[in-house]
Amino acid sequence: MKIINPATEQVLANLKEDNNSSLKKKLETLRKGQPKWSAVPLKKRIAVLQKFAELLKENIEECARVLTSEVGKPLQQSRNEVNGARNRIAWLTANADKYLSDEVMGDDGNTKEVITYEPLGVVCNISAWNYPYLVGTNVFVPALLAGNSVLYKPSEFSTLTGLEIEKFLKKAGVPDDVFQVAVGAREVGAALLDLNFDGYFFTGSYATGKFIYEKVAPKMVPCGLELGGKDPLYVAADVKDIKSIAAGTADGAFYNNGQSCCSVERIYVHEKVYNKYVEEFLKEVKGYKVGEPTEDGVYIGALTREAQLRVVEAQVKDAVKKGAKVLTGGKKRSGKGNFYEPTVLVNVNHKMKLMREESFGPVIGIQKVKSDEEALQLMNDTEYGLTAAVYTSSKSRAEKLLAQTNSGSGYWNCCDRVSAALPWSGRKHSGFGSTLSHVGLRAFTKPKGLHLRG
Ligand code: NAD
Repeated sequence: MKIINPATEQVLANLKEDNNSSLKKKLETLRKGQPKWSAVPLKKRIAVLQKFAELLKENIEECARVLTSEVGKPLQQSRNEVNGARNRIAWLTANADKYLSDEVMGDDGNTKEVITYEPLGVVCNISAWNYPYLVGTNVFVPALLAGNSVLYKPSEFSTLTGLEIEKFLKKAGVPDDVFQVAVGAREVGAALLDLNFDGYFFTGSYATGKFIYEKVAPKMVPCGLELGGKDPLYVAADVKDIKSIAAGTADGAFYNNGQSCCSVERIYVHEKVYNKYVEEFLKEVKGYKVGEPTEDGVYIGALTREAQLRVVEAQVKDAVKKGAKVLTGGKKRSGKGNFYEPTVLVNVNHKMKLMREESFGPVIGIQKVKSDEEALQLMNDTEYGLTAAVYTSSKSRAEKLLAQTNSGSGYWNCCDRVSAALPWSGRKHSGFGSTLSHVGLRAFTKPKGLHLRG
C-alpha cells in the first residue's frame, strides 16, 4: 500500500497490507492476551495509558510531522491534535476508577446488589483519517482501560500515524498481545467484519457505517458508529459582536480544511445581521493563508483525499447552477497537491447539494433567514444529527432552540468543539452509541448485576 503526501504528491512509504490469514493470527494473539490484561489491576492500566500520553508529549514534533506528511494538515494543527488527545487521555484516566469500578447499589442486610463492568473482550476499531489521534483515543484508550484488547485499523490515509500510535502504546507498557494494528484499506476493513470480534467501533462515513452495521448485526455484539455530519449554525438577530462571531464561526467551518465531523457545514443568519455578518466572515476567510502545511502561518493545507476535490467541485458547480453566488474561492489551486481555495457561497438554499450533503472540505454556504422558526426548520432539515450551534445574546432563546434540534451535541455561542467530559454521539445518519464521558468509558464494558447473599 502506497502512502502519498497529499501536499507534494511524494510517495512516503510502501507498506505491506494485511490479509485474511494475518488478520486471523492477530485476532488469535489478542484473544490470548486479553484475559491477562484484564487481570492487571485498573490502577496499573491507568498508569500505562498516562505514560502513553507522556510519550506523546515528549515526541510531539515527530508525531506532528508524520501526521502532517500523510494527511496534509498544517503542522500547528497536527500539534494541536496531539495535545487534544493528551487532554482526552487525562480526563479518561482520571475518571476510569470512578466509572469502571464495581458499584454497590444497595444492601438491605439480606442482599447486596452490585454492578460490575466486565470488558467486552477483543474489540475491533476501524478508524478515520481526519483526526487519527483524537478519534483513535476516543476508542482504544477507554477500551484498554476497561480491560479489552484492541485490533486497531487506521485509515489507509493515516496508517503511518496508526503505526506511531502502536509504537508509543507498546513503549508505554501495553503488551504486544493486547494491541495490534491492521494495515490496509477497504478490503482489510471488510475482512475484519468476517472475523468474530466481541465489539465493533467504527469512525467514518455514513455509507461505510451502514455497511458495517448490517454485517455486524447478526453477530449480536455491540457496534458503535461515529459517522458524518451536516452541522448547522444559526446566528440570531440579537448578536452583539458580529466581527468576533464571524471569525469564530469561520474557524468552525474551515479548521482542518473543513474535514471535521463537527465542522460547521451550513450557516443561517437572521436578515437583520446578515449583511454585516457576511462582510466580516468574508474578510476573515480572505485572510487565511493557503499553502504547504509545513510552512509557518499556513491555515489551509492540502485536502487529505484527492477524491474529495471532486465532491467539493461538484457541490459548488451544482450550487452555482441553481443560483448561488461565489464570494471567494470556488476552485482548485493550480499546481501540485490537493489544494482547494477556501470558498464562501451566498444565495444558497436546500435544493443544493452544498446545503444537504456532507462537504468535508473548505466550502460553506450562508443562507439568510427571516425568523428563529425558519432557522430551526432548516437546521433540522437533514439526514444527519451530530451537532448544532446557535449564536444569540439570549440564554433562553438558545436553550429553546437547542432543545428542538435533533443532534447529539448542542452549542451556544461556540461550535466545532468536543469535550472529554461530555458524550460524543450522533443521531440518524450520524450514527449511534457514545464515546467520551462516563458513557464512553462504559461503552467498552458489559455490565453485570450481582445479587449477593451470604
Ligand atoms: P470511510 O468510511 O471512507 O473510511 C473509514 C474507515 O473504514 C477506513 O479505515 C476505511 O479503510 C474503512 N472502510 C472503508 N470501506 C470499508 C468496508 N467496506 N468495510 C470495512 N471497513 C471499510 O471514512 P473516512 O473518509 O475515513 O472518514 C471521513 C468520514 O468520517 C466523514 O464522513 C466524517 O464526518 C466521519 N467522521 C465522523 C466522526 C465522528 O465522531 N462522528 C469523526 C471523524 C470522522
